[in-house]
Amino acid sequence: MALIVQKFGGTSVANAERIQNVARIITDTYRAGNSVVAVLSAQGDTTDDLIAKAMEINPRASKREMDMLLSTGEQISCALCAMAIEAMGFPVVSLTGWQAGMKTNKAYGSARIKSIDTERIVSELGRNAIVLVTGFQGLNKYEDITTLGRGGSDTSAVALAAALKADLCQIYTDVEGVYTADPRRVSGARKLDEITYDEMLELASLGAQVLHNRSVEMAKKYQVKLEVLSSFAKKPGTKVKEVVKKMEKTYVVGVAKDKDIGRLALVELEDRPGIAYKVFSLLSKENINVDIILQSIGRGDTKDISFTVKRGDLEAARQILEEHQESIGFDHIDVSSNLAKVSIVGAGMIDNPGVASQMFEAIYGARINIQMISTSEIKVSVLLDEEDADKAVAAIHKSFFGE
Ligand code: ASP
Ligand code: MG
Repeated sequence: MALIVQKFGGTSVANAERIQNVARIITDTYRAGNSVVAVLSAQGDTTDDLIAKAMEINPRASKREMDMLLSTGEQISCALCAMAIEAMGFPVVSLTGWQAGMKTNKAYGSARIKSIDTERIVSELGRNAIVLVTGFQGLNKYEDITTLGRGGSDTSAVALAAALKADLCQIYTDVEGVYTADPRRVSGARKLDEITYDEMLELASLGAQVLHNRSVEMAKKYQVKLEVLSSFAKKPGTKVKEVVKKMEKTYVVGVAKDKDIGRLALVELEDRPGIAYKVFSLLSKENINVDIILQSIGRGDTKDISFTVKRGDLEAARQILEEHQESIGFDHIDVSSNLAKVSIVGAGMIDNPGVASQMFEAIYGARINIQMISTSEIKVSVLLDEEDADKAVAAIHKSFFGE
């Protein structure tokens, strides 16, 4: 008998019929002789609707009260699904994050799971009950409800799987697995049978929407066997694990696009030691994450440094740097927000030098200009105009995966 943690996303539980469907998947797994713990997200757009309701009342509502509100969406799904399972005649109990022992740090709105006290779940499993747990939330040291940040239910599920030493963690969603590109946008996108944690982590961080990247980080850390699959189609999904069988000739597993990117360029910066340190330490003090950095070769006694941040951080970054214009020593800042990052990911790249040039060739073939490039052992990212991004993704995908 295996212990399986299953997670169902918002679209999978969006209405009564879909909740019945989820109840069927859970009870089928249970009837096959497994213990099941299922983590549910809020139904459909519930979380967005709750945020809108809060904004109507108080646009500056405290994060504590926001968490109190947002955590209710998951409670609704779990209670309804438990009722569906009850009606089917199976023993079931739904638990909130805190009843399930999820302890988080105090960061309302973006809490991190610190530990899980599994006693209650273990005792419910011990009496053969199916256990449903609200995703995306826990309790902090003040015994206040906290939420884990948007999309956090994946992380709840993986954390539970790790704490319970589950045999498998299945993430049920509205696509059939992890694809070589977004199947809703790229024709010819193919489902992958398997992918490594590292590749999945890059894809999730680079804009693929299928898994919350913190959940992948955690799965790797605790070696949780993950499977991403559809709650609508009865088909095997994509397995995420440490090592995968080497597939012939596939050095690249996917192409991702991220529009949440803005670029700042410090123009005519003094060319002397300590400048990069000054610029980036100012930003890090404000918790602004910098992604791609490019420094030009000095001409005369000036150089340029450009770098990218999340779009939401663009204004704050500009302000801080402008406040320190004198002491840093630059002429002006250029800001662009109409850019996108397109990336290819694959563990096989390390020993295949031709991969980057194949990507650049595809982009050139589409007559698209690259503005910045960044590489790591398992990815190549380029920055380009946002309006060219979909075309670039299509061209790159076609080059690596065919039509
Ligand atoms: N309901 C939350 C959200 O929409 C958490 C989740 O779906 O994972 O962000
Ligand atoms: Mg959701």
